Amino acid sequence: MHHDELRPETWVVVAGRPQPVPGAPLNTPVIPASNYVLGSERIYSRNEATEGWEAFEAMIGGLEGGDAVAFSSGMAACAAVLGELPSGAHLVLVDDCYQGVAAIADAGARTHGWHVERLPASDPLWLERGAEADLLWIESPSNPLLEVADLAAICAAPRRTGTRVVVDNTFATPLLQRPLELGADIVVHSATKLIGGHSDLLLGVAIAADPSVLRLLREVRSRNGATPGMLECFLALRGARTLALRLRQGQHSAQALARRLRTHGSVTRVRYPGFGTIVSFELADAAAADRACQATRIVRHATSLGGVETSMERRSAHPGQEHIPAGLIRLSVGCEDAEDLWRDLDAALSAT
Ligand code: PLP
Repeated sequence: MHHDELRPETWVVVAGRPQPVPGAPLNTPVIPASNYVLGSERIYSRNEATEGWEAFEAMIGGLEGGDAVAFSSGMAACAAVLGELPSGAHLVLVDDCYQGVAAIADAGARTHGWHVERLPASDPLWLERGAEADLLWIESPSNPLLEVADLAAICAAPRRTGTRVVVDNTFATPLLQRPLELGADIVVHSATKLIGGHSDLLLGVAIAADPSVLRLLREVRSRNGATPGMLECFLALRGARTLALRLRQGQHSAQALARRLRTHGSVTRVRYPGFGTIVSFELADAAAADRACQATRIVRHATSLGGVETSMERRSAHPGQEHIPAGLIRLSVGCEDAEDLWRDLDAALSAT
């Protein structure tokens, strides 16, 4: 079966399974192997895809409309793409991009003379940068300000030969946004987040359609040893089976919570792009945000996002994130009942 024939909601359930012959397991088993008997294409599992990676890659590649290369974490996928930029490269980044990506860019500026420019996701200057820069790195919605980039327009704008557009699609997921179809060259994900969906693994993936890009990504993965774990691939594929359901529930609740937060007396601003499971809202100051984060009983005070459990944290608490409004809380909405979540949040906000 090919992903083009199926809706994504079906593809996440059927993709990456063994052939349905009598006696075959329904799920691709975890095969803990580093070393294989010589004589086939599989030799050593840092270099050649294992069965577990292939199953996960088939699912996520089909969902994004390209071929996938899985990595040990989202950062390993980001580093594989960025690490190949030459000395003196011009890199344009979303200004509130994930802090790990900003750290790679800062290191590249120091050691390889990269010219790093930061722009808000919604800045019209993106349309001009394709003609000048070597790489455009876009997170949309951005993290944590949740600004949305006009990906179709940026990808269609004039571009120098060789200039690549990379989209971090972690927040939207391919169920809400497919950047390759809009003209992007590479999509990256922290599969740790919504794709895995259970806060129990680290995994990353880069997806592209161009065979030369894919060859390079596989070579870099093998060279740097940033290979995904077999158990992580198994768990991420199992988690992805319910991605559509989790996303539907989380998005529905996020929309309801964003609406109610907008009318709450303690909340000064709500940022929500209208889709997805992440809502950022602002309280008067950092102390009020910290009190709210400590006071919830259902919502977990935790840094990551995209799990079945709702979590939140004050983003400006992280070093290097001082540009984020001091009282901004990023809320990742999970699968609990929306009324229970609202009662919990409302009580915690009243305690500030
Ligand atoms: N991209 C985004 C948007 C993220 O939020 C994160 C992690 O928080 C990463 C990339 C890095 O992924 P990982 O933590 O799996 O290495």
